[in-house]
Amino acid sequence: MSLLEVRDLVVRYGRVPALHEVSLEVNEGEAVAIVGPNGAGKTTLLSAIAGVVAAAAGSIAYDGRNLHGNSPEAIVRRGIGLVPEGRHIFGSLTVAENLRLGMTVRRDREQARRDLAATLDRFPILRVLHDTQASRLSGGEQQQLAIARALLASPRLLLLDEPSLGLAPLVINLVFEVLGELRGRGVTILLVEQNVARATAFATRSHLMCGGRIEPLPETVDGEAAAGALLAGAYLGTGEAR
Ligand code: ATP
Repeated sequence: MSLLEVRDLVVRYGRVPALHEVSLEVNEGEAVAIVGPNGAGKTTLLSAIAGVVAAAAGSIAYDGRNLHGNSPEAIVRRGIGLVPEGRHIFGSLTVAENLRLGMTVRRDREQARRDLAATLDRFPILRVLHDTQASRLSGGEQQQLAIARALLASPRLLLLDEPSLGLAPLVINLVFEVLGELRGRGVTILLVEQNVARATAFATRSHLMCGGRIEPLPETVDGEAAAGALLAGAYLGTGEAR
């Protein structure tokens, strides 16, 4: 059974449609990537799953139950974590306070404390910057904080919106290393990326999103080249995304 099942999802901003009957399934333990150009609707899709924007039509089921009517907080409690684009950390709070916010949904206090220690081991810079105001962190440090905060809610499904955007290559490597470890622990991952090569290499399946529509990317031997060609067509408007 799929852990996440999006069916014919339509989202509009005012009268402008951002998603046109988008359908997507993610099975437990999978890492699924969605690649596509700016304005394709990728953020909108993740926001709809996280309950941050409302659907005009269609359905989103998680673990066999419809998410319709659930608040974003209830959705986090059900096990869906979102690392949003632009990070959305609380700049006036310290690193430690931001991390504690990630743990507010946890009931297993002892395990949560152990997870915090493990997370600080995984992102050592956050231990160094523990008492620093988050607004003073660099982009790469803020991204690590945003991912760490989402992980501390112990999600079963982790949604990531362009986690490598604007990061130095070493930090990108760290982010993908951590995602690989999560996958190894059975966390299901839905990853939105413009870094086609990294995303398709990491994912078990990939989709291309363009103009509010989604298509599976063929599992060719050279997925990277296929994705590149499809994206070029999408950007130029010369090719069918197929
Ligand atoms: P990007 O990588 O640039 O974030 P994206 O693929 O994530 O692109 P979305 O941000 O989901 O795309 O945007 C999809 C469409 O919806 C775009 O045409 C965008 O201009 C529009 N849009 C997004 N957010 C809003 C909003 N709050 N109000 C109005 N239109 C919006």
